[in-house]
Amino acid sequence: MSREFETRCIHGREDTGLNDRFRAVSFPIYQTATFSHIETGHNGSGFDYTRESNPTRTHTEEAVAAVESAKYAIGFSSGMAAISCFFELFGRGDHIVCSEDLYGGVFRLHRLVTEKNGIEITYVDTSDLNELSAAVRPETKAIYLETPTNPMMHITDIRKAAELAHKNGALLAVDNTFLSPRYQNPLKLGADIVIHSASKFLSGHNDTVAGFICLNDDRLNDGLRLLAKTTGASLSPFDSFLVERGIKTLAVRMERQQENALALAELLSLHPRVKDVCYVGLKSHKGYDLNLSQASGFGSMISLHTDSPETALRVLHKVKVFTFAESLGGTESLVTYPLIQTHPDVPQELKERLGIDDTLLRISVGLESINDLISDITQALEG
Ligand SMILES: *Cc1c(COP(=O)(O)O)cnc(C)c1O
Repeated sequence: MSREFETRCIHGREDTGLNDRFRAVSFPIYQTATFSHIETGHNGSGFDYTRESNPTRTHTEEAVAAVESAKYAIGFSSGMAAISCFFELFGRGDHIVCSEDLYGGVFRLHRLVTEKNGIEITYVDTSDLNELSAAVRPETKAIYLETPTNPMMHITDIRKAAELAHKNGALLAVDNTFLSPRYQNPLKLGADIVIHSASKFLSGHNDTVAGFICLNDDRLNDGLRLLAKTTGASLSPFDSFLVERGIKTLAVRMERQQENALALAELLSLHPRVKDVCYVGLKSHKGYDLNLSQASGFGSMISLHTDSPETALRVLHKVKVFTFAESLGGTESLVTYPLIQTHPDVPQELKERLGIDDTLLRISVGLESINDLISDITQALEG
């Protein structure tokens, strides 16, 4: 009998291979760089050196694979380390199609590293399937997308994107950070690669930075693990422990955060100082139906345009329960200014087209009382 999501968050899959020798209920932190060998060619434990593998990381990788319903998960020192490793799969002459509304750091990675490696990237609105299919060429090796996108919350049809990629012999990679496995499992919809910034919902407490790649394919798993070991981007034992501890409460955290987010989005969309609210859980959202056809929820990320730059800045400086900080997905509610905090490296022309301007705020709704969140944002908006 396959386990339900909430049970997998806490106990993993039934076939979890690695158990602590002392039967510790909370899997221990194996804070060691290296492992002793019994004889030449035989390490006795399956572990050699922590950059390559470590029992705590392996246990956490199994926990992440269990919640994402993946055969494999690979732990990285950050979401960006996982994303970098993915783009290392490609080389000179390869072409990749990406969402144009994308986590800002990915643009910087492309400018500083990926393009230097001779890889060409085309950015399109992947929520428009005509635009997406027109961008695919014979040398296209991957489609890379977020859904919902960061920060504008556009929804892309994962099943159709997978079909399009596979028809061309290309891979589909989906950054699933925003909805997390609680609400979306892109591998089940045809994606080949799922990427997580585990610094966000998976760890969930704003206390660690981590990343994962989840996948089902044996050869890709071997290739990515070799790259992770070679570049040294692997997740530390302590941070692995924090991610695993966070996952135990993933289901309940996300459900309450989503409940808070819906209440807040409804209130904000009626506020005179707010021009528009981008939240996938509002029926007025353009991608509402498509999102529900592939995901079981909306998450807790809201973007909004205020009536003026002054209002946006006032909110940032006047909030007391919300924290003015970048990042998302944790117990603390955060308010972010994408223009200068998360998306400064997006080309100006693209920022204008997407609506990333000086009135845009992004809110990550946390676990505080909804009454306190509402009165805090209201007093900050009204100054
Ligand atoms: C934060 C984030 C990243 C980068 O992850 P880090 O853990 O900060 O390196 C990538 N994608 C999305 C959608 C993110 O929110």
